Amino acid sequence: MKNLVVGAGLSGSVIANLLASRLNENVLVIDTKNHVAGNCYDYRDNNGIMVHKYGSHIFHTNNEKVWSFVRKFADFNQYMHRVFAIIDGNETTIPFNFNTLYAVFPPVFAKRLEKKLLEQFEYNQKIPILELQKYDDTDLKFLANYIYEKVFLHYTTKQWGLKPDEFDSAVTARVPVYLSKDDRYFQDKYQGIPLGGYTKLVENILNHPNIELRLNMDFKDVEEHFDRVFYTGAIDEYFDYKFGALPYRSARFTFEEYNREYYQHNSVVNYPCNYDFTRIHEYKYYLNDKSEKTVIAKEYPEAFEVGKNERFYPVPSDENITLYNRYLEEAKNLENVYFLGRLGDYRYYNMDKSIQRAIELFDTLVV
Ligand code: UDP
Repeated sequence: MKNLVVGAGLSGSVIANLLASRLNENVLVIDTKNHVAGNCYDYRDNNGIMVHKYGSHIFHTNNEKVWSFVRKFADFNQYMHRVFAIIDGNETTIPFNFNTLYAVFPPVFAKRLEKKLLEQFEYNQKIPILELQKYDDTDLKFLANYIYEKVFLHYTTKQWGLKPDEFDSAVTARVPVYLSKDDRYFQDKYQGIPLGGYTKLVENILNHPNIELRLNMDFKDVEEHFDRVFYTGAIDEYFDYKFGALPYRSARFTFEEYNREYYQHNSVVNYPCNYDFTRIHEYKYYLNDKSEKTVIAKEYPEAFEVGKNERFYPVPSDENITLYNRYLEEAKNLENVYFLGRLGDYRYYNMDKSIQRAIELFDTLVV
């Protein structure tokens, strides 16, 4: 065995596939879980509905290389993600856009705000909420504070245990105010859900004669020697937390089944201000699954704790990045051990970025 890949999620499966298919090298892939696909894992429940066990996953990318890579392993539908949120009792679009403006304010006021926005910015521009708050105009200030309070403040506090300005502004900038009538959550060129699900996609990526997969296996239990190790687990855990534990966020999903066709109007509805959960996922929308029943999941964010839950998100604050950088420096002393993925790189990657990172890492090995 030449290569060990720790973690059978997207990052691990992609690097394993490239080593196996492009270098014709043997790869052992291990995972502590009893399934592949990491946190993208999905399964059909007893109603035939494809459930995303760790929350909704929507594939979207502008990267041609990434898109052509995944298309070799799955066909995708043309699902375009939309998110609604309950704001002041109205169900309206997120990101906050011109349609939201008219949904939550009286028409005359909405028109005035629309005019002000278009005097200040270009149509189609995306403005992070923390940017919009810097403008002095009374109306724009009112609008920025309204959106901050109704969309971001409470949701972010529930999700991260932090206020929007207490950590990397790129996090809330993922959902900017969008000066447009485009209601989609993403504007990427390629979007969709793999028709057979994400688990199948990852199984297909791993399906190569040079790849051996061992589930329920811990890195510490591997006895063989390897020329290279690709580690997609948490970098702080790799080093036995020698500089201290890096914080991660997790979430608890409570599943509910209903004897009716649909529970809500959309796959995801956010509850920024009310309740302890942040959002409700209704899974049958993704692949248009037909059933007289439906299954939803309420998402309750919580801190990650070893042994209690799974790591979902790194928490990109200055302090945490400084700690991560100490681990990164330590990693540079290792030979032929490579870290990648959300947990290995301590980065809030989307699925396409995880794949891109694995492809780019592979490319550095072959030059
Ligand atoms: N966010 C928010 N209110 C919303 C949606 C998003 O405050 O209604 C903020 C929140 O901090 C969240 C971040 O924007 O963590 C990124 O949202 P995204 O939907 O990209 O998160 P993911 O689906 O990756 O959990």
